[in-house]
Amino acid sequence: MTYACVAATEQRARCRHWAEDQKVKTFCSFHQKRWDDGMTVDIVGRPDAVEFKFNVNEKWASQLMTMGVELRQPDFQAKEQKHIEHAEKHEREAFRYRKDIADSGVPVFGKDGLVNVSVYELFRELIEAYEIVDIFLRPTKPGGNQHMKVLVIYFSHGEKRGNMEAIEEVLRFLASSRWGHCHVWANPPGSTGKIKNTVNTSHREPDKQPERVLRFNDGLFASEEVAS
Ligand SMILES: [Zn+2]
Repeated sequence: MTYACVAATEQRARCRHWAEDQKVKTFCSFHQKRWDDGMTVDIVGRPDAVEFKFNVNEKWASQLMTMGVELRQPDFQAKEQKHIEHAEKHEREAFRYRKDIADSGVPVFGKDGLVNVSVYELFRELIEAYEIVDIFLRPTKPGGNQHMKVLVIYFSHGEKRGNMEAIEEVLRFLASSRWGHCHVWANPPGSTGKIKNTVNTSHREPDKQPERVLRFNDGLFASEEVAS
């Protein structure tokens, strides 16, 4: 299984090369050699924030809106420009993983991400580790399925802004969800020096059993097989 090396670069970003498997100290060949040679290899720490995004259908979206979750309209073009500039600043190729979407980070589980996974366990771990500082809905990106909305939940340290009724609803929703696709991105520090990782899930299959479970693993992320 593809898994990103857990070493940190000099700029505190997660290494963009692949490791063999998901262990706490799992490195790409470059960092493994440094480690074997007795040189210092820093491991990436916990991110300052985790942005969790789910594709939700209209039914769930309107249910959440009746509970007070706002629908916001982001400026997609400005965001894309910011991603390109961020990649350039870190001397990284912005279109390395996706040819039409700019990235400055590394996809922790490879370009294809995880399939048939549950993120409920991760969500609970994040509630323990952080505060929910924001929750809102937005439309899907231009070109995406316009019948869906995206639910964005922002975990960080700071003032709690989560709406408990909505969070309970999200937990119910996640407990009964298997996701066809899940991508975790480890990003380099932003302009304020803070590191934000993102978790994106889509293709919810409510009636199917997950094959894997996503875990926080102290900010390194890991996936475990579900015992059958
Ligand atoms: Zn590495």
